[in-house]
Amino acid sequence: MRSVTDEYESDLRDAPAWRALQWRARSVRTTSPLAVPVRKLRCTPVPGAGDPLRVGIFAGIHGDEPAGTLAAHQLATWAQTMPPQLAGYELHLYPVCNPTGLAAKTRHSRAGLDLNREFWCGSDQPEVKQLEAELRAERYDVIISLHEDDTSYGLYGFVSGGLLSEHLLEPALTAASQFLPRNQAPIIDGFPAFRGIIREGYRGVLSAPPEQRPRALEMVFETPVDAPLHLRVKASVVAVQTSLTAYRQLLAHGANL
Ligand SMILES: [Zn+2]
Repeated sequence: MRSVTDEYESDLRDAPAWRALQWRARSVRTTSPLAVPVRKLRCTPVPGAGDPLRVGIFAGIHGDEPAGTLAAHQLATWAQTMPPQLAGYELHLYPVCNPTGLAAKTRHSRAGLDLNREFWCGSDQPEVKQLEAELRAERYDVIISLHEDDTSYGLYGFVSGGLLSEHLLEPALTAASQFLPRNQAPIIDGFPAFRGIIREGYRGVLSAPPEQRPRALEMVFETPVDAPLHLRVKASVVAVQTSLTAYRQLLAHGANL
C-alpha cells in the first residue's frame, strides 16, 4: 500500500506546474539512522539586496495534519517561479517533519510521542535530533510552523521568539481570512488569545535554538480541521506568502520601530 507521503508526492509530480517548472530545489538527506529521514527542500534563492533572509517552513510534525505538508509543497513549486515576493529570501522547506506519523496518519510518531513537545530538552528522538541540528546549523531569521486544529472553528496562531513576531502573524491571519474565518475567541486551545493570536505556548515546540541571537521571529499557523482541505492548504500558503512580505516591510521600516 502506498503511504500518504507517496500519494502526496505523486500528486505533486503529476501537477503540470511541477513538470513545467523543472524541480530545482535540492533535496537533502542527512545521515540520520531514521528509517524515513526528514526531507529538506532548499529552494533556489531569489536574488535581492543585502544578505539573504533565511526562512524555515516546517510542516507535518503532527502526522494527521496534511494541509501544512501540501502547502509546503505548493510553496516549493511557487518558489521555483522566482517570484518577486521572494527576492532576497532563501527558503527552506521541511514538508514532513514526522514521516512515520504521516505514513500512519497519526499525530504522534511511531515511537508514540508528540514530537512537538520534545525540542531543546535533550530528546533522543531521531527526528527531533535531526531537526535540532538543522535549526542550529541554519540559524533561520524566520521560522514558520504549519499546523491544524480539530477543536478550533477558525484560523489562529502562536507567536514566540523575537518581539516583532506578531507583526508577521497578524497580516497572515488577515490575508488567510479570505478563505477561512479567524477564531475570535478569548481563549483558544486553553491559552488567552486576542484576534486569533496567542503569545504563550507549549514547552518543547519546534523553535530556534535557545542560544540563538538575534532571536528568530517565530509563528505557528493553525487551520481548522473541519474546513475543506483545499481551503486549509490555500490559507496556509497565503499566510506564509503574506508573512514573508510583512517581514521585508518590517526590515525596511526597522529604523522607525
Ligand atoms: Zn499540530
